[in-house]
Amino acid sequence: MDFDLDSEHVQIKDTVRKFCEKEVIPFAEEWEKNEFFPRETIRKMGELGFFASPFPEQYGGTELGFLANIIVAEELGRASLGLACCLNMQSGTCPMTLLLNGNEEQKEKFLPGIISGELLGCFAVTEPNAGTDVAGIETKAIRDGDNYILNGSKMWITHSSVFDVGICFAKTDPTQRHKGLSAFIIEKGMEGMTGMAEKDKLGVRSSDTGQIVFVDVKVPKENLIGEEGQGFKIAESALTYGRANIAGRSLGIGQAAVDAALKYANEREQFGQKIGYFQMNKQIIADMVAEIDASRLLVYRAAWLQDQKRPSANESTIAKFYASEAAVRAVIGAAKIHGAYTYSSEYPVARLYRDVMLMTAGEGTSNIQRLIIANNALGWK
Ligand SMILES: Cc1cc2nc3c(=O)[nH]c(=O)nc-3n(C[C@H](O)[C@H](O)[C@H](O)COP(=O)(O)OP(=O)(O)OC[C@H]3O[C@@H](n4cnc5c(N)ncnc54)[C@H](O)[C@@H]3O)c2cc1C
Repeated sequence: MDFDLDSEHVQIKDTVRKFCEKEVIPFAEEWEKNEFFPRETIRKMGELGFFASPFPEQYGGTELGFLANIIVAEELGRASLGLACCLNMQSGTCPMTLLLNGNEEQKEKFLPGIISGELLGCFAVTEPNAGTDVAGIETKAIRDGDNYILNGSKMWITHSSVFDVGICFAKTDPTQRHKGLSAFIIEKGMEGMTGMAEKDKLGVRSSDTGQIVFVDVKVPKENLIGEEGQGFKIAESALTYGRANIAGRSLGIGQAAVDAALKYANEREQFGQKIGYFQMNKQIIADMVAEIDASRLLVYRAAWLQDQKRPSANESTIAKFYASEAAVRAVIGAAKIHGAYTYSSEYPVARLYRDVMLMTAGEGTSNIQRLIIANNALGWK
């Protein structure tokens, strides 16, 4: 067993960290304040190959693997969770759905653009009345000659108002639940389709998130992924990778909380001592450091299994569950260490506080991860 990253992974970590220090961290607060979507930064990330590691060279990938992808997620999550939200759309659920389930024509047409950052992706599952209950999706896709006609609306979709190409889940048989779901490729400019960004969000404000409304949208039959009725399985196939990806981002924001707490505890003095000296603060710091270290082992293990092409669904779920909950605890710990200064925009903790809760909701809430983990342990899957 080897716990060291190899030299290639160390180099990737170093490159992404340097990029973040120069191109992301100095602007992160401003982007959040102004709800600025940093399109050009995402393009640069694409050009530098930040999205390419899980994909075959024939589609523009670098084949550096999933651990490389998770390292990018960790470093971006540490720098700006708002910016890091784009990762799943450019290198996680959206393109993985195409890679795992698309036909050759669909992969060749869309994967290179998404991976290079030239096209922005999206992955549209959630609806006003269907969050956790994916089989309860109400958007309909009814076959009409060579097209499907989509009607309905999606909610809380990352890149809703900026995407170029996306995956949309809709009911081809509205009388069914799981078996009635199908997956479609949607493209910018389709008549009747409107994307709108939700403004004044609690956090991740530099990420574009919102509604997509479909009114008699004609989607050519060539844009169906797989076969009618396979949508639920298709969504699940990509979610394993999406969960590892969000686990990497959770690890990153958790590490940002640890970094902020350590820096502050070494600077701030009370009673003539650095506040890190006080045992109760040491306890908070020790818990944070230990939990983020454990998260890293779980997250890297999930990605390592993916690189070995071994089953990783349960391990990705465990990593997502633990790392996201540990990140929340770490941010709360950092807030306690910062006292009143948590509320100051001089320090990053307020931003971390606003952003972190998304980690326990996206790609399935903690309750759902718990159910999956318990059902697997009980042998009830
Ligand atoms: C910033 C942001 C970006 C997002 N991006 C996307 C995106 O790109 N694409 C997309 O499709 N979605 C996206 N989402 C939506 C996200 O995936 C959903 O919020 C998530 O799936 C949970 O759905 P919900 O919020 O409707 O919660 P609900 O399903 O309403 O759940 C509310 C609570 O009830 C619990 N609960 C529900 N059912 C059960 C059950 N059976 N057993 C136990 N507990 C249960 C949940 O765990 C949760 O605690 C995004 C959300 C945000 C905030």
